[in-house]
Amino acid sequence: MTVDDAAALDARDPLAPFAEEFHHPLDPAGRRAVYLCGHSLGLQPRAAAACVERELAVWRDRAVLGHHEEPRPWVRYHERFSAPLGELCGAMPTEVVAMNSLTVNLHLLLVSFFQPTPARNRILIEKPAFPSDRYAVVSQLAFHGLEPAAHLIEVAPRPGEQCLRTEDLLAAIGRNREHLALVLLPGVQYLTGQCLEVAPLVAAAHAAGARIGLDLAHAIGNVPLRLHDWDVDFAVWCSYKYLNGGPGAIGGGFVHERHARRVDLPRFAGWWGHDPDTRFAMPAEFTPVAGAQGWQLSNPPVLAAAPLLASLDLFRRAGLGRLREKSLALTGFLRRSLEEALPRGRLEILTPREPAAHGCQLSLRLRPGGRRVFERLAAAGVVADWREPDVLRLAPTPAYNSFGDVRRAAIALADAARS
Ligand SMILES: *Cc1c(COP(=O)(O)O)cnc(C)c1O
Repeated sequence: MTVDDAAALDARDPLAPFAEEFHHPLDPAGRRAVYLCGHSLGLQPRAAAACVERELAVWRDRAVLGHHEEPRPWVRYHERFSAPLGELCGAMPTEVVAMNSLTVNLHLLLVSFFQPTPARNRILIEKPAFPSDRYAVVSQLAFHGLEPAAHLIEVAPRPGEQCLRTEDLLAAIGRNREHLALVLLPGVQYLTGQCLEVAPLVAAAHAAGARIGLDLAHAIGNVPLRLHDWDVDFAVWCSYKYLNGGPGAIGGGFVHERHARRVDLPRFAGWWGHDPDTRFAMPAEFTPVAGAQGWQLSNPPVLAAAPLLASLDLFRRAGLGRLREKSLALTGFLRRSLEEALPRGRLEILTPREPAAHGCQLSLRLRPGGRRVFERLAAAGVVADWREPDVLRLAPTPAYNSFGDVRRAAIALADAARS
């Protein structure tokens, strides 16, 4: 890993100019920080402020008329996200919707897709799942009078291993085939950065008579998704990680077309899920709009959604294929740089090495003193994050990180580990 390697890779990178379309935080020395935290909160696109200010101006100047005024009537604001989100998810525009936040969407879709019967009442998740997902699932079980001890199946990596094995997930689905109602798994696991092999898991869940949902918090905008072809029943995501939508940005959901017109599915309804043709006739009976939009409750939070338009436009121009190609190159470069710079005994990389099994993120254990290394990294201008008790996560993000960033991070990490 030399300065020249990084510089040559940056010089050949067709996406390099996109870094200038983002605001980058400064490090303690006043230089541009190396921001490797896109898995937690994506950087602000420079165009985001204009997207918000436009709507603030409409509100200021036109007030309630903004709901219907072209070119961006607020009553249809959510529709602007359908095509680009469909593109990111490998879904039809009608299968996706921008709404609420991740955990809210998870609850709403669990209401529809987790309907336990006395015979079929178990949920299978991964261990350790993201706490919010586990809370949501356990509270849904409790809502149906079910106990996690008997009805929650948690599949962990094997002893001494870090990542889940597809075969173990398939076996657990098989073992529970008589009783399984729902499988809920991540697209990319938040702690290890492992990208799951979705297609065989969907096939197994369906063969067992269960439904399957995905949490795409760490997957959307990071790895290629084919939700429609994979035949996933539903999915949810947030937009503030790789989608750069800003803190608390509007989240999203996917409902497979197979379920688009299922009026028999129980759902918690709200007026924004009602057929827009009759929504303002204010009928007493709820008639859901076909597709994912039928799960909306409220009129969309325009100011929490506007920055996402700027980011999705960037994704469109950069192109998902090119972003993924650069992502694999960046993360591969980070792995090689770390392996060169750190003695073997000190560094453990939890994230799988095979390209198909990871996105941007590398999760590391550094022994001893991982936490101290993390703190020194921050002082050296590298923004990473720390998950208790001992995991350092670094995510070079192809839209705004360079090979030079990765090199700087690897050197800072090696320095921090030595001192
Ligand atoms: C980030 C993340 C969330 C966040 O949930 P919110 O409802 O948006 O606060 C949920 N699940 C996973 C797996 C995450 O990584």
